[in-house]
Amino acid sequence: MLLPVLLLAAALLVLFAAVVPVLRLRHADRALASGDYDTAIAIYGQYGSLYGAQGRLSEARYQKACALLKEGSYADALALFTELGDYQDSSDLAGKAELGVISDKISAGDYNEALTELSQFDENEEQVASLMEEAKFGRAQLLAGIGKLENAASELEALGDYTGAPDLLNSVRYNLAIDRLSICDFAGADEILKQLPDRVSDAAVLESLAASPFDGVYQCVYTDTAGRTDPSATSYLWIHSVITTGTTSLVLGMQEDFAVGTVDAATFGDAAVNAVYYQNPDALTWYFSYAGSSDDADDTDGDCYEKLVLSDDMQTAVTSIVDSKTLEEVSRPRTRTWTLVTDQDTASAVRTGFQRRMAQDLGMTGNAYFADATDSTAITHYCSVENCTNPGTLVAEDALSRSYYCEDHRSEYEEDSRVQTQEP
Ligand SMILES: [Zn+2]
Repeated sequence: MLLPVLLLAAALLVLFAAVVPVLRLRHADRALASGDYDTAIAIYGQYGSLYGAQGRLSEARYQKACALLKEGSYADALALFTELGDYQDSSDLAGKAELGVISDKISAGDYNEALTELSQFDENEEQVASLMEEAKFGRAQLLAGIGKLENAASELEALGDYTGAPDLLNSVRYNLAIDRLSICDFAGADEILKQLPDRVSDAAVLESLAASPFDGVYQCVYTDTAGRTDPSATSYLWIHSVITTGTTSLVLGMQEDFAVGTVDAATFGDAAVNAVYYQNPDALTWYFSYAGSSDDADDTDGDCYEKLVLSDDMQTAVTSIVDSKTLEEVSRPRTRTWTLVTDQDTASAVRTGFQRRMAQDLGMTGNAYFADATDSTAITHYCSVENCTNPGTLVAEDALSRSYYCEDHRSEYEEDSRVQTQEP
């Protein structure tokens, strides 16, 4: 009785120890051949170094990794090739898979991370160089979109003839010039417009206007809307060209504010009154919308205009309030005679103050280029560090200037001299 049982047990043992593995490994081989890598890997993995399974396991994993690479599952392929180490050309293919992972990051818009990772590769390699250009171009588009126009322009200059770069550079420079013009920085705009080919929109016309703008700061004793003067305060009137997309001839605009004592650019312009051009019947006579109410001027018919008459030599100007229909002076015309400010420090402080205020207004109305001029928490400010596309939450500022930094650039924020002067 015992012997047959033992024999049967021995036979079963042989079957399990030798025949079953052979059958299972054959099954695994067939699975591998048909591309069912996971089944093959699972079976080979059960036999460790027995029956030559180890080598076949590596081969199955290698083939799986190659298939993943081919189908574009770069992260999974990279993990497998890395585990395979020196098996066949796994380390070369790991590099290819890693470039695939980086390419996915570029597609997802993670340009800075992609570029950091690409810097570990040989940039003379064609695929690496091509991915670098792609990431830099994507980043330049993003920089342009978040209003970092100077930064975008310098990146695009470096990209040279890369597909799309010259056109985007022209568009970024044009927008930059328009933004400089919108705060009446004529010299800054002219410098940029000169770099643009004439064929770009109306760049040539804008350049000729920006090259010789009307740009005078005038002053007079402060006079309130009822005509009462206050000799302790001085009103300043900035009369300047208004140049924007589509402008073809001289148009003037005016800003007015007053100061007691020396003009401080950090606060001057906060109470600015803007006069918007209406018409000019001749080169020296200009009508603007009147920023005050018609009651100020005691005009029974309603709307008023502010009339400006410049002297021939532009050294003086007279403003008064007129009826918008008859163009006759109203009963309280508040006639003021302005003289050109010749002290350049004062004129410069007046311009800087008004420009600071204009930039804030533009930032508040959605112009991304001027977003950092505002401190409104409702507006997204971007990190000021070159090529950084992160929103900035750390602010360094003094009376005249402000920059934002992201957490990635906290150390640069802490090194900003404006932060150190704020701290006791
Ligand atoms: Zn940053």
